[in-house]
Amino acid sequence: MKIYISADMEGATGITDVWQTMNSRPEYSFGCKMQLHDVRAAVEGALAGGADEVFVNDAHGRMINLDINGFGTKVTLLSGHSKALGMIEGCEGSDGVFFVGYHAMAGSAKAVLDHTISGATVFSISLNGREVGELGVNAAVAAEFGLPVAFVEGDDALEQEVRLMLGDQIEFARVKAAHGRLAAECLTPEDSYPLIREKARRAVHLLKEGRAPKYDIGDGSYDLRITFHTTAQCDEAMLIPVLERIGGRTVRICGKGMAEMRMWANAIISLAGTGNR
Ligand SMILES: [Zn+2]
Repeated sequence: MKIYISADMEGATGITDVWQTMNSRPEYSFGCKMQLHDVRAAVEGALAGGADEVFVNDAHGRMINLDINGFGTKVTLLSGHSKALGMIEGCEGSDGVFFVGYHAMAGSAKAVLDHTISGATVFSISLNGREVGELGVNAAVAAEFGLPVAFVEGDDALEQEVRLMLGDQIEFARVKAAHGRLAAECLTPEDSYPLIREKARRAVHLLKEGRAPKYDIGDGSYDLRITFHTTAQCDEAMLIPVLERIGGRTVRICGKGMAEMRMWANAIISLAGTGNR
């Protein structure tokens, strides 16, 4: 059995501030350390549960945060960017997905570092009428490759989002309780490591028993809408001719195939970001 881990940073143990996740800040070394800490716990749990191999995709920022030293055997690290499918690149061919260090969607109340793909650019994203965050769009891509989600790690707001989307079967490691966007009660690494490890171990059993949930992708047709913070960002996005503008700050693209929709989302958001001034 092969486990795929998409590793973000904002949801990792002890992280509460955006400076800890920005490579231009001295606090960033703490962010890297804690992301690595949590990913290693999840890898160890997956292998303890009987996984034969683990594929880790570094999914935060420039995607070169994780130090490959110490991962040991049976692990592959996908490091760097750009990657066509970004945070969910390389999931095909595995048996199930873990989301580690994830965070709630933009606009969630009392959620550590809530945002969706780009905090500076994206106000909200909806997929077939349902508002989704990074976890939702990435889980939808995974589902198109036939993959369930078995394990998620992050704060209490993310847990609520995950339970509403994917139900109660999923194994969730709650490593912090948010008091706001930039404050949370955090488990210590000494407590979060065994928690993540155990939930990840159990998640492999969920997969073996066929009980892990998949995102409902219906008939595979999609209506993807992205609302930006400003009309200037929307103006830039509209340089892509296939987009339909359905509001001052909102674009829509319809199509088939979630992998392609995910690529569109990355392209649209990157281009819209040039309007950040
Ligand atoms: Zn991130």
